[in-house]
Amino acid sequence: MDTLNSLFPPNEVRRIQKLTPGRGTDHNIWAYTDHGSYTVKSGYWLTANRGHREGDSRSPADQTAFDIKKSIWKTPTLPKIRLFMWRDVSGALAVAERLNTRGMNVDPMCKLCNNASESINHVLFQCHPAQDMLQTIAFPTEPAIPRSLLEFI
Ligand SMILES: [Zn+2]
Repeated sequence: MDTLNSLFPPNEVRRIQKLTPGRGTDHNIWAYTDHGSYTVKSGYWLTANRGHREGDSRSPADQTAFDIKKSIWKTPTLPKIRLFMWRDVSGALAVAERLNTRGMNVDPMCKLCNNASESINHVLFQCHPAQDMLQTIAFPTEPAIPRSLLEFI
């Protein structure tokens, strides 16, 4: 009873107490769709609106990261490039540093220069052999996002 009162408003507690248990088995439902199943759209909506709900605010760093990720989807380029950019700022590229955080035990050193930890930032913006290769194909080697904001990601 105390748990119900701590979780639900009084009118909902009265409604819940009037319910009779059914014969079906309990199962989890996703509360943000009418059909109770998770969809990417509803997950995105929840993430985008998280800062607007009472008592559930986003930190300034999280808000900055969210705004950067949101702007990526509006970048006028190929979808696979937008996905790569999103995976970059989300820390979802398969570099040694990220793989080790997922429990894979791989050599953390950069395979090209063997002078630094193989992080996303190192591979894309700091590794000299990688920079040389990227320059041969005229790939922009400076991040489009200011370095001061990269600290938030
Ligand atoms: Zn390197």
